[in-house]
Amino acid sequence: MNIAVCVKQIPDPAVPGELDPESHTLHRVGKLILDESDSFGVEMALQLADKAGGGDVTLISMAPNNEVSGLRTALAMGAAKAVLVSDPALAGSDALSTAKVLAQAITRAGDVDLVLTATESTDGYTGTVPNQIAQLLGWPSLTFAKHVEVEDGKLTIRRQTEAGYDVVESSLPAVVSVTAGVVEPRYPSFKGIMAAKNKPVDQCTVADLGLSSDDVGWSGARQEITNVAAAPAREAGEKVEDDGSAHERIVAFLEALKVI
Ligand SMILES: Cc1cc2nc3c(=O)[nH]c(=O)nc-3n(C[C@H](O)[C@H](O)[C@H](O)COP(=O)(O)OP(=O)(O)OC[C@H]3O[C@@H](n4cnc5c(N)ncnc54)[C@H](O)[C@@H]3O)c2cc1C
Repeated sequence: MNIAVCVKQIPDPAVPGELDPESHTLHRVGKLILDESDSFGVEMALQLADKAGGGDVTLISMAPNNEVSGLRTALAMGAAKAVLVSDPALAGSDALSTAKVLAQAITRAGDVDLVLTATESTDGYTGTVPNQIAQLLGWPSLTFAKHVEVEDGKLTIRRQTEAGYDVVESSLPAVVSVTAGVVEPRYPSFKGIMAAKNKPVDQCTVADLGLSSDDVGWSGARQEITNVAAAPAREAGEKVEDDGSAHERIVAFLEALKVI
């Protein structure tokens, strides 16, 4: 079974981000890292390919400046190869343009049975790209998977809900977004890190994918960031003095939040 995993390479979240004052977009200069959310998809793909007794795990990424640092981390985990789309024309791409690029890159990878993504990225987190990729490919979209199984060509997931999970089945090929914690991502071994240096990364441009620069970047974007404001400061919490009925107020509070 051949599995494509969309992996986003993002600025290190530990370093304070910087926004462009005019476009309000994130500066993505320097080394990018593998979005931790996507390490779950990579691990899930490696386990599914193993269970299926073969097949390739191919990484798909769109990133500026031919950035491969994050891809090398995922290749070191065990993915076989990668398709990287990088092109100055991509600057300013919104979520739909990103999905168009990724869908074409998946097609370029060829012979893909299953696409895995995270439910949302750490730096953009619109959570819309996986569904858009599925729509563009004309494949079923299964979301919020906390468990994924493929047996006899049939895909079954447990879809996370507020109350527990739904079991959702689908034919292949399909696109599945997996939740964080779906599996425990492995640490790349020293051998894996060395092997990753020589694994193939197919670097391509917008034109290589048969897309026009009008489909992507600032000219293709249908979303515009009009303003950015600091998040409101956290309000002080409510202090409950125990007059004998504190437990009732706490239970009512948790019920209102649907925590219990
Ligand atoms: C007006 C505008 C301008 C922008 N300009 C730029 C820019 O100049 N440069 C820039 O880098 N970004 C730019 N962005 C942001 C970038 O295009 C977003 O990454 C894109 O919109 C995807 O949205 P998301 O991260 O919210 O994806 P989500 O839907 O939250 O992502 C879900 C999952 O899809 C997959 N995925 C998403 N994006 C990628 C990717 N790039 N490669 C591989 N897998 C992926 C991952 O598995 C991810 O976890 C811009 C966005 C807007 C709205």
